[in-house]
Amino acid sequence: MAYDTDNIFAKILRGEIPSKKVHEDEHTLAFHDINPLSPTHILVIPKGPYVSFDDFSEKASDAEIAAFIRAVGKVARDAGVATDGYRILANIGENGHQEVPHLHVHIFGGRKLGRMLA
Ligand code: ADP
Repeated sequence: MAYDTDNIFAKILRGEIPSKKVHEDEHTLAFHDINPLSPTHILVIPKGPYVSFDDFSEKASDAEIAAFIRAVGKVARDAGVATDGYRILANIGENGHQEVPHLHVHIFGGRKLGRMLA
C-alpha cells in the first residue's frame, strides 16, 4: 500500500494538527490516543512513512527499528504501567481494522484488560 501523506498521523508529525506528546526522539513520536479505551492509551509511531509492520520491518533502518522498540518500552515505563502490566497492539490493514494508514502501536494499561479476542 502506498503511503498517504494526508493521513492524520502524518499531519500530527508535520505539526498541522495538535497532539498530546509523551515522547519524541529522532525517529519516533508517542502521544495520547484522542479516544482512550483504557486509563492509559498511548500511540507510538515511527516518524518515517510506513503503513504497516511488514513495511516498516522491511524498509526502516536498524536505528529506526531500535528507536521504535525502545520508545514503546520507555513510554510504558514513563506512563507507570510497566509494573502492573499492559498490552501493545498494532492493527494492520483491512483485516486488522487499521483506520489510520501510518504504522502505530497502541499501549493500553491502567486497569485489568479484557482477554484478547481474535
Ligand atoms: P482502530 O480505530 O480500529 O483502533 P487503528 O489501529 O488505526 O484503528 O487506530 C487508530 C487510533 O487513532 C484510534 O484509537 C483513534 O482513536 C486514534 N486517533 C485518531 N485520530 C487521532 C488524533 N488526532 N490524535 C490522537 N489519536 C487519534
